[in-house]
Amino acid sequence: MTGDLHTHSIYDDGKNSLLEMAEAAESLGLDFFGFSGHSFQTGGEDFCISDERMADYLSEAKAIKQLFLREERRTAIYVGLELDLLGRPENGLDYVIGSAHGFMIDGRLCNVDESPGALQWLIKEHFDNDPYKMTDAYYDNIARLSDSMDCDIIRHFDLVTKFNEKCPMFDAGSRRYLSRALEAMEHLSRKGLIFEVNTGAMSRGWRTEPYPDMVLLKTLCGMGGRIIINSDSHHIGTIAHDFDRAKARALEAGFRSVWVFTDQGFEEIPLDGFGNKI
Ligand SMILES: [Zn+2]
Ligand SMILES: [Zn+2]
Repeated sequence: MTGDLHTHSIYDDGKNSLLEMAEAAESLGLDFFGFSGHSFQTGGEDFCISDERMADYLSEAKAIKQLFLREERRTAIYVGLELDLLGRPENGLDYVIGSAHGFMIDGRLCNVDESPGALQWLIKEHFDNDPYKMTDAYYDNIARLSDSMDCDIIRHFDLVTKFNEKCPMFDAGSRRYLSRALEAMEHLSRKGLIFEVNTGAMSRGWRTEPYPDMVLLKTLCGMGGRIIINSDSHHIGTIAHDFDRAKARALEAGFRSVWVFTDQGFEEIPLDGFGNKI
Protein backbone atom coordinates (compact mmCIF):
# COMPACT_ATOMS: atom_id res chain seq x y z
CA MET A 1 0.00 0.00 0.00
CA THR A 2 1.22 3.46 -0.80
CA GLY A 3 -0.01 7.04 -0.86
CA ASP A 4 0.75 10.68 -0.26
CA LEU A 5 -1.31 13.07 1.89
CA HIS A 6 0.75 16.25 1.66
CA THR A 7 0.31 18.01 -1.70
CA HIS A 8 -0.47 21.43 -3.15
CA SER A 9 -2.16 22.84 -6.24
CA ILE A 10 -2.80 26.08 -8.11
CA TYR A 11 -5.25 27.03 -5.35
CA ASP A 12 -2.17 27.88 -3.28
CA ASP A 13 1.49 27.82 -4.36
CA GLY A 14 1.41 24.62 -6.43
CA LYS A 15 1.77 24.35 -10.22
CA ASN A 16 -1.05 21.97 -11.19
CA SER A 17 -4.80 21.74 -10.80
CA LEU A 18 -6.34 19.41 -8.21
CA LEU A 19 -7.53 17.08 -10.95
CA GLU A 20 -4.09 16.96 -12.61
CA MET A 21 -2.54 16.11 -9.24
CA ALA A 22 -5.11 13.37 -8.53
CA GLU A 23 -4.71 11.84 -11.99
CA ALA A 24 -0.92 11.90 -11.70
CA ALA A 25 -1.22 10.11 -8.35
CA GLU A 26 -3.42 7.48 -9.99
CA SER A 27 -0.96 6.94 -12.82
CA LEU A 28 1.79 6.43 -10.21
CA GLY A 29 -0.32 3.65 -8.73
CA LEU A 30 -1.00 5.29 -5.37
CA ASP A 31 -3.73 3.70 -3.25
CA PHE A 32 -4.57 6.96 -1.53
CA PHE A 33 -3.88 10.60 -2.25
CA GLY A 34 -4.75 13.74 -0.32
CA PHE A 35 -5.00 17.45 -1.10
CA SER A 36 -3.56 19.65 1.63
CA GLY A 37 -3.61 23.27 0.47
CA HIS A 38 -2.13 25.96 2.72
CA SER A 39 -4.82 27.34 5.04
CA PHE A 40 -5.96 30.93 4.61
CA GLN A 41 -3.88 33.29 6.69
CA THR A 42 -3.40 37.02 6.85
CA GLY A 43 -0.01 37.95 5.41
CA GLY A 44 0.26 34.63 3.56
CA GLU A 45 -1.16 35.86 0.25
CA ASP A 46 1.79 34.61 -1.80
CA PHE A 47 1.51 30.95 -0.73
CA CYS A 48 -1.90 30.38 0.86
CA ILE A 49 -5.38 29.71 -0.46
CA SER A 50 -7.15 33.06 -0.45
CA ASP A 51 -10.23 33.74 1.63
CA GLU A 52 -12.33 34.11 -1.54
CA ARG A 53 -11.16 30.81 -3.08
CA MET A 54 -11.31 28.57 0.00
CA ALA A 55 -14.91 27.45 -0.61
CA ASP A 56 -14.04 26.58 -4.24
CA TYR A 57 -10.99 24.60 -3.12
CA LEU A 58 -13.05 22.53 -0.71
CA SER A 59 -15.94 21.89 -3.11
CA GLU A 60 -13.69 21.03 -6.07
CA ALA A 61 -11.56 18.71 -3.94
CA LYS A 62 -14.68 16.95 -2.62
CA ALA A 63 -16.11 16.66 -6.16
CA ILE A 64 -12.89 14.95 -7.34
CA LYS A 65 -13.06 12.60 -4.36
CA GLN A 66 -16.63 11.64 -5.37
CA LEU A 67 -15.70 11.32 -9.06
CA PHE A 68 -12.88 8.87 -8.28
CA LEU A 69 -15.20 6.93 -6.00
CA ARG A 70 -18.00 6.79 -8.58
CA GLU A 71 -15.68 5.67 -11.37
CA GLU A 72 -14.01 3.14 -9.06
CA ARG A 73 -10.57 4.56 -9.82
CA ARG A 74 -7.66 2.82 -8.11
CA THR A 75 -6.72 5.85 -5.99
CA ALA A 76 -8.86 6.93 -3.04
CA ILE A 77 -8.90 10.74 -2.79
CA TYR A 78 -9.04 12.62 0.52
CA VAL A 79 -9.53 16.27 1.34
CA GLY A 80 -7.25 17.92 3.85
CA LEU A 81 -5.57 21.16 4.74
CA GLU A 82 -2.08 22.21 5.77
CA LEU A 83 -3.15 24.37 8.70
CA ASP A 84 -0.61 26.90 9.89
CA LEU A 85 -0.50 28.03 13.50
CA LEU A 86 -1.44 31.46 12.13
CA GLY A 87 -3.98 30.05 9.66
CA ARG A 88 -7.75 29.61 9.74
CA PRO A 89 -9.25 26.14 10.30
CA GLU A 90 -12.01 24.79 8.00
CA ASN A 91 -14.82 22.31 8.53
CA GLY A 92 -15.56 19.01 6.84
CA LEU A 93 -12.01 17.80 6.23
CA ASP A 94 -10.74 14.21 6.19
CA TYR A 95 -7.51 15.19 7.95
CA VAL A 96 -5.40 18.19 8.98
CA ILE A 97 -1.63 18.65 8.74
CA GLY A 98 -0.41 21.09 11.38
CA SER A 99 2.50 23.39 10.59
CA ALA A 100 4.25 26.48 11.82
CA HIS A 101 6.20 28.21 9.09
CA GLY A 102 7.32 31.29 10.91
CA PHE A 103 6.62 34.32 13.04
CA MET A 104 4.41 37.36 12.80
CA ILE A 105 6.80 40.21 13.55
CA ASP A 106 5.63 43.84 13.49
CA GLY A 107 2.63 42.81 11.41
CA ARG A 108 4.79 41.05 8.84
CA LEU A 109 4.93 37.30 8.29
CA CYS A 110 8.52 36.00 8.44
CA ASN A 111 8.78 32.34 7.43
CA VAL A 112 11.83 30.25 8.32
CA ASP A 113 11.74 28.41 4.98
CA GLU A 114 11.67 31.41 2.62
CA SER A 115 15.37 31.73 1.74
CA PRO A 116 18.76 31.54 3.51
CA GLY A 117 19.07 35.34 3.30
CA ALA A 118 15.65 35.94 4.82
CA LEU A 119 16.39 33.53 7.67
CA GLN A 120 19.75 35.20 8.36
CA TRP A 121 18.01 38.57 8.43
CA LEU A 122 15.39 37.24 10.85
CA ILE A 123 18.07 35.87 13.22
CA LYS A 124 20.02 39.12 13.11
CA GLU A 125 17.14 41.55 13.43
CA HIS A 126 14.84 39.73 15.82
CA PHE A 127 16.85 37.14 17.71
CA ASP A 128 19.96 39.13 18.73
CA ASN A 129 21.97 37.36 16.03
CA ASP A 130 21.62 34.14 18.03
CA PRO A 131 20.33 31.32 15.80
CA TYR A 132 19.43 29.22 18.84
CA LYS A 133 17.07 31.89 20.13
CA MET A 134 15.31 31.60 16.77
CA THR A 135 15.22 27.77 16.86
CA ASP A 136 13.90 27.86 20.45
CA ALA A 137 11.11 30.23 19.40
CA TYR A 138 10.36 28.03 16.38
CA TYR A 139 10.02 24.90 18.54
CA ASP A 140 7.90 26.77 21.08
CA ASN A 141 5.46 27.40 18.23
CA ILE A 142 5.65 23.80 17.07
CA ALA A 143 4.96 22.53 20.60
CA ARG A 144 1.90 24.75 20.71
CA LEU A 145 0.36 23.19 17.57
CA SER A 146 -1.46 20.35 19.25
CA ASP A 147 -2.92 22.65 21.92
CA SER A 148 -4.16 25.36 19.60
CA MET A 149 -5.60 23.33 16.74
CA ASP A 150 -7.12 20.00 15.92
CA CYS A 151 -4.46 18.35 13.74
CA ASP A 152 -3.54 14.75 12.94
CA ILE A 153 -0.09 15.13 11.41
CA ILE A 154 2.91 17.31 12.18
CA ARG A 155 4.40 18.63 8.99
CA HIS A 156 8.22 18.63 8.51
CA PHE A 157 8.97 18.95 12.22
CA ASP A 158 12.46 20.47 11.80
CA LEU A 159 11.73 22.80 8.88
CA VAL A 160 14.10 25.23 10.54
CA THR A 161 17.03 23.07 9.29
CA LYS A 162 15.99 23.48 5.63
CA PHE A 163 19.06 25.51 4.60
CA ASN A 164 21.58 23.94 6.97
CA GLU A 165 23.17 21.64 4.39
CA LYS A 166 23.88 24.43 1.91
CA CYS A 167 24.18 27.44 4.25
CA PRO A 168 24.91 26.19 7.80
CA MET A 169 23.56 28.63 10.39
CA PHE A 170 23.61 26.48 13.55
CA ASP A 171 24.70 23.04 14.73
CA ALA A 172 21.69 20.75 14.45
CA GLY A 173 23.56 18.07 16.41
CA SER A 174 24.29 20.30 19.40
CA ARG A 175 22.66 19.97 22.79
CA ARG A 176 21.81 23.66 22.66
CA TYR A 177 19.64 23.13 19.57
CA LEU A 178 18.30 19.68 20.40
CA SER A 179 17.02 20.29 23.91
CA ARG A 180 14.06 22.46 22.84
CA ALA A 181 13.44 20.37 19.69
CA LEU A 182 13.19 17.19 21.76
CA GLU A 183 10.91 18.85 24.32
CA ALA A 184 8.53 19.81 21.50
CA MET A 185 8.77 16.34 19.98
CA GLU A 186 7.94 14.63 23.24
CA HIS A 187 4.98 16.91 23.83
CA LEU A 188 3.48 16.28 20.38
CA SER A 189 4.22 12.58 20.39
CA ARG A 190 2.50 12.18 23.75
CA LYS A 191 -0.57 13.82 22.22
CA GLY A 192 -0.60 11.08 19.56
CA LEU A 193 0.28 13.22 16.56
CA ILE A 194 1.83 11.51 13.54
CA PHE A 195 5.16 12.93 12.38
CA GLU A 196 5.96 13.32 8.71
CA VAL A 197 9.02 11.84 7.14
CA ASN A 198 8.93 14.53 4.47
CA THR A 199 10.90 14.56 1.20
CA GLY A 200 9.84 18.08 0.13
CA ALA A 201 13.21 19.77 0.60
CA MET A 202 14.90 16.91 -1.32
CA SER A 203 12.77 17.46 -4.42
CA ARG A 204 13.50 21.19 -4.16
CA GLY A 205 17.25 20.59 -3.96
CA TRP A 206 17.85 21.94 -0.43
CA ARG A 207 18.42 18.68 1.41
CA THR A 208 19.80 15.27 0.51
CA GLU A 209 17.80 13.58 3.27
CA PRO A 210 14.17 13.89 4.36
CA TYR A 211 12.98 15.73 7.45
CA PRO A 212 13.44 15.08 10.32
CA ASP A 213 17.20 14.72 10.87
CA MET A 214 18.30 11.22 11.88
CA VAL A 215 18.98 12.09 15.51
CA LEU A 216 15.38 13.34 15.87
CA LEU A 217 13.95 10.42 13.94
CA LYS A 218 15.78 7.90 16.15
CA THR A 219 14.60 9.68 19.29
CA LEU A 220 11.04 9.72 17.97
CA CYS A 221 11.23 5.97 17.39
CA GLY A 222 12.62 5.48 20.88
CA MET A 223 9.69 7.33 22.42
CA GLY A 224 7.17 5.18 20.51
CA GLY A 225 6.31 7.95 18.03
CA ARG A 226 4.29 7.45 14.87
CA ILE A 227 5.32 8.36 11.32
CA ILE A 228 3.77 8.92 7.89
CA ILE A 229 5.69 9.37 4.63
CA ASN A 230 4.76 12.46 2.60
CA SER A 231 6.21 14.47 -0.29
CA ASP A 232 4.89 18.03 0.19
CA SER A 233 4.60 17.99 -3.60
CA HIS A 234 3.85 21.26 -5.38
CA HIS A 235 3.54 19.74 -8.88
CA ILE A 236 2.82 16.46 -10.65
CA GLY A 237 6.51 15.61 -11.06
CA THR A 238 7.22 15.34 -7.33
CA ILE A 239 4.28 13.32 -5.99
CA ALA A 240 5.63 10.53 -3.75
CA HIS A 241 9.13 11.89 -4.39
CA ASP A 242 11.88 9.49 -3.29
CA PHE A 243 9.69 7.53 -0.88
CA ASP A 244 12.27 4.73 -1.11
CA ARG A 245 14.80 6.98 0.62
CA ALA A 246 12.28 8.08 3.24
CA LYS A 247 11.43 4.45 3.94
CA ALA A 248 15.11 3.47 4.19
CA ARG A 249 15.72 6.31 6.68
CA ALA A 250 12.76 5.28 8.78
CA LEU A 251 14.00 1.68 8.85
CA GLU A 252 17.49 2.89 9.79
CA ALA A 253 15.99 4.90 12.65
CA GLY A 254 14.34 1.73 13.95
CA PHE A 255 10.74 2.12 12.75
CA ARG A 256 8.94 -1.03 11.66
CA SER A 257 5.53 0.48 10.91
CA VAL A 258 4.10 3.51 9.16
CA TRP A 259 0.66 5.15 9.15
CA VAL A 260 -1.53 5.36 6.07
CA PHE A 261 -5.00 6.76 5.38
CA THR A 262 -8.11 4.77 4.48
CA ASP A 263 -11.89 5.30 4.58
CA GLN A 264 -11.67 4.28 8.25
CA GLY A 265 -9.09 6.97 9.00
CA PHE A 266 -5.43 6.53 9.94
CA GLU A 267 -4.17 2.95 10.04
CA GLU A 268 -0.84 1.42 10.97
CA ILE A 269 0.80 -0.96 8.48
CA PRO A 270 4.22 -2.64 8.41
CA LEU A 271 6.83 -0.34 6.90
CA ASP A 272 7.89 -3.21 4.65
CA GLY A 273 4.49 -3.13 3.01
CA PHE A 274 4.59 0.57 2.19
CA GLY A 275 5.47 2.03 -1.20
CA ASN A 276 5.98 -1.23 -3.01
CA LYS A 277 3.82 -0.36 -5.98
CA ILE A 278 5.80 2.63 -7.20
ZN1 LIG B 1 3.68 25.53 -0.27
ZN1 LIG C 1 3.09 21.75 2.27
